[in-house]
Amino acid sequence: MASSYKDKTLPRMNPTTNTLYWQYRRHPRWSRILQLVLVVAFVICFIYGFSGFGADTPKTTKKVLKNGAYDSSKIYTAKDFMNAYGISQDDLSKLVPAPEQIGKEKATLIMLVRNREINDALKSMRAMEDRFNRKFRYPWTFLNDEPFTQDFINYTTGMASGRTYYGLIKKDQWSIPHHIDHNKVKANMETMVAKNVIYAGSMSYRHMCRYNSGFFYRHPLLANFQWYWRVEPGVEYFCDIDYDVFEYMRVHDKVYGFVMAMYEYLVTIETLWNSTKEFIRKHPQYLASDNSLDFFVDNHPPTRSGEKEITGDYNLCHFWSNFEIASLDFWRSQAYQDYFSHLDSVGGFFYERWGDAPIHSLAVGLFLPKTKIHHFGDIGYRHPPYSRCPQDVESHRSGRCFCSRRDHFDDDGYSCLPRWWNVAGQSVGAGIKQLD
Ligand code: GDP
Ligand code: MN
Repeated sequence: MASSYKDKTLPRMNPTTNTLYWQYRRHPRWSRILQLVLVVAFVICFIYGFSGFGADTPKTTKKVLKNGAYDSSKIYTAKDFMNAYGISQDDLSKLVPAPEQIGKEKATLIMLVRNREINDALKSMRAMEDRFNRKFRYPWTFLNDEPFTQDFINYTTGMASGRTYYGLIKKDQWSIPHHIDHNKVKANMETMVAKNVIYAGSMSYRHMCRYNSGFFYRHPLLANFQWYWRVEPGVEYFCDIDYDVFEYMRVHDKVYGFVMAMYEYLVTIETLWNSTKEFIRKHPQYLASDNSLDFFVDNHPPTRSGEKEITGDYNLCHFWSNFEIASLDFWRSQAYQDYFSHLDSVGGFFYERWGDAPIHSLAVGLFLPKTKIHHFGDIGYRHPPYSRCPQDVESHRSGRCFCSRRDHFDDDGYSCLPRWWNVAGQSVGAGIKQLD
C-alpha cells in the first residue's frame, strides 16, 4: 500500500500549553531494519570504492585474490588473475582468432628455452617479429626439458604474430644414456673445471648440446615442418628482412644457412675429429663431392668426387649454431642420423663437452656439396659477446639495417669467415669492416 509523509503523523493537544502539536508516528520495525541495512551497505561500498574494487589497479589484486591467498611479497601471475576472474585458457584463445600464416613454406621459428629466460626470449621474439616475421607470420615452436609455465605461454603467444606451439622434451633425450661411465664423466668434468673451460661443470649444458645435435628435429611438434630458423633468448637482429628466407633456401636449393663462423675450444672436442674420421671410414658413401673439407682443414685442396677418406687436422672452424636457417630433412637423413648415433655411442657429449655447433658444421660440411650452404651476409645479428653487421653501403643508406659497421665480427681474428670466403666466395653484405 502506498504511504505518504502525512500518513505517518498525528495531531496531538498539549494539555499544559493547550496547543496542538504534530507527533511523528513511530516507524514500523521492518522499516528501521531496512534503513540500517542501507546505511551499512553504503559504508561498505564506500570503503571498497576507496580500496579500488573493480578498478584495474594493483589493489585489485589484493581484493580479487583475497580469500586468504593474498601475500604482499608475492608477484601474482596472469594465471592467478585468470583463476580469480574465472577465465580459462580456452576463453582467452576464443578472444584472439588464430593468426593466418602468410609465408608459404612449411617452416617454423624454434626456440629451446627455460622458463626463467622469458625476458630474453621476448626480447629475441620482439626483434624477430619486427624485422622479419610479422610480414610472414610463421609459427613459433618452443621446446623445454620442463613444462612451460602458463605465464611463459601467455606472454610469448602474445608476442608472436603466428601460431605458437609448446613442447616438452622426452626424459630419455635429456639424460645420460646407459652406456656412459658416470665415474669417467665426473673425473673428466673435474679436469675441465680445473682448466676453467666454459660450461665445464654443467651437466644441463651437455644435455642441451646433445639434444640440439640429435633430437630436436625428431620432436613430434616439428613433424610437419621442413624448415626452421633457430632463435635463442637474448639475441638481436639488426636489419629488416623483406624476403622469405625459407623460400630463398628452397628456391636456391640450399640446406643450411649461417651468419657467423669461429673457432671451437679444442678442450671441448678433443676426440671429435678422430671420431668423425672413423665414421667416414665406415661410411665413405656419405662424403659429398665438392664438400667443405677445405674450410675445416687448412691448405686442404678442394675435394674431388670419389674421395673416400678425410685427412689432415681439424682447424676448429665451425658455423655458430645459435643462428641457423636450415632444413629439418637434412638432420632426418640417414647420413646424419647414423653420424649422430656414432658420436653418441662414443660418449663425447659427456666425456668431453661436444657442442652442437661443430657437429652440425662437420655434418653439413662433409655430407653436402658446398653450394648447399649459404652465408646470410645481409642479416645483422648479435649473440653476446659477438655482433656482425652487413657491410654494404645500401643496407645502411636505405635504413634497412641499424648497426655499427665497425662492431663487426666477420674479419675478427677469432672469426673463420675469411676462410669461408676463400673456399666459397663472399655473399652480399659480407666483407671487411667499412667506416660508418
Ligand atoms: P651458449 O649460447 O652456448 O652460451 O648457451 P646457451 O645458454 O645460450 O644455451 C643454448 C640454448 O639452449 C639457448 O636457447 C638456451 O635457452 C637453451 N638452454 C640451455 N640450457 C638449457 C636447459 O637446461 N633447459 C632448456 N630448456 N634450455 C636450455
Ligand atoms: Mn646462447
